[in-house]
Amino acid sequence: MSTLISTIGLLVTNDPAVGEGTAELRDAAVVIDNGAIVWVGPSAQAPAADERIDVDGACVIPGFVDSHSHLMFAGDRADEFEYRMAGRPYTAGGIRRTVGLTRSASDEQLRANAQHVRAEMRAQGTTTLEIKSGYGLTVDDEARSLRLAREITPETTYLGAHVVPAEFADDTAGYVALVTGAMLDAAAPHARWIDVFCETGAFDVDQARAILEAGAARGLGARMHAGQLGESAGVQLAVELGAASVDHCTFLSDADVAALGSGDTVATLLPGVEFSTRQPYPDARRLLEAGATVALATDCNPGSSFTSSMAFCIAVAVRDMRMTPAEALWAATAGGARALRRDDVGVVRVGARADLVVLDAPSYVHLAYRPGVPLVRQVLSRD
Ligand SMILES: [Zn+2]
Repeated sequence: MSTLISTIGLLVTNDPAVGEGTAELRDAAVVIDNGAIVWVGPSAQAPAADERIDVDGACVIPGFVDSHSHLMFAGDRADEFEYRMAGRPYTAGGIRRTVGLTRSASDEQLRANAQHVRAEMRAQGTTTLEIKSGYGLTVDDEARSLRLAREITPETTYLGAHVVPAEFADDTAGYVALVTGAMLDAAAPHARWIDVFCETGAFDVDQARAILEAGAARGLGARMHAGQLGESAGVQLAVELGAASVDHCTFLSDADVAALGSGDTVATLLPGVEFSTRQPYPDARRLLEAGATVALATDCNPGSSFTSSMAFCIAVAVRDMRMTPAEALWAATAGGARALRRDDVGVVRVGARADLVVLDAPSYVHLAYRPGVPLVRQVLSRD
């Protein structure tokens, strides 16, 4: 059945055939049919359809593409957040606490928790999301996390290299061998991507290379966590290996910025982390001026960023990361799609998925101008 969405005051297409960046149309309409966009153009010229939704001058944007989340977890770390806000520093070690809780949770508990957060995301306009494993860190628990994540999204990422689990504290090399061996064998059938946390306290650059190359040999695309707590050789390794995205990018050398500006690895910024750990925000302007492709994502996880709101990330990016509202919106939609190497989401064009968000506002600028206000009026999604 076809549906005409008409009287759109401002339509963000992100379609390069329409224009640069957000490629906006005024007084527009969109027709969707069977989960796909089949017509885009001026409202006055819209064809008839089986049903019609008038949005009365509202702004319509592509559904958000959240290219970085960690939804397969159990438990809560609100106490750590409270302590951190009282002045204690963030370290990567807190991940092990969630690992313990996740290992002891049932499939039903993990599934229910992930579905709950996924529903939060959907209500806030996210129509595509990536989910990582990384709180199991055993062969069976990593495979289980990915199998359950696959019930929610095809964009699943094997992150056995999230942190070295306590039982391997004196044998990091042994753990890397497991991550690139039996654990990879069990994870690969359920994963599209492989990721590694290349940071002090997690994995070094040589280990990261070994892990990403082992994943590539099994057909998994590369992603990277780097530059969260300090500069990391992982950023340039990610570019060298042709990773789809390097995520965090809070601390970057000039050479890192130049590498991101020249390659096709997306720089994915995760401002919920800096908010929740009281770290300095990444400088998006520096990356944009170097020609890098920038994405925004939530990094939704119970330790360092327990937000499911892409609108919140946009507001922070505009307020504190020197992005314009248009750049931030593009990064949260088309940028996320680039970070997942997808051309069928994050864009409003004929043939793309019919993932659209009607805002309760005349412009997407309101996502940053009215922070914390629920501005999603309706979510239209193929799923
Ligand atoms: Zn992450």
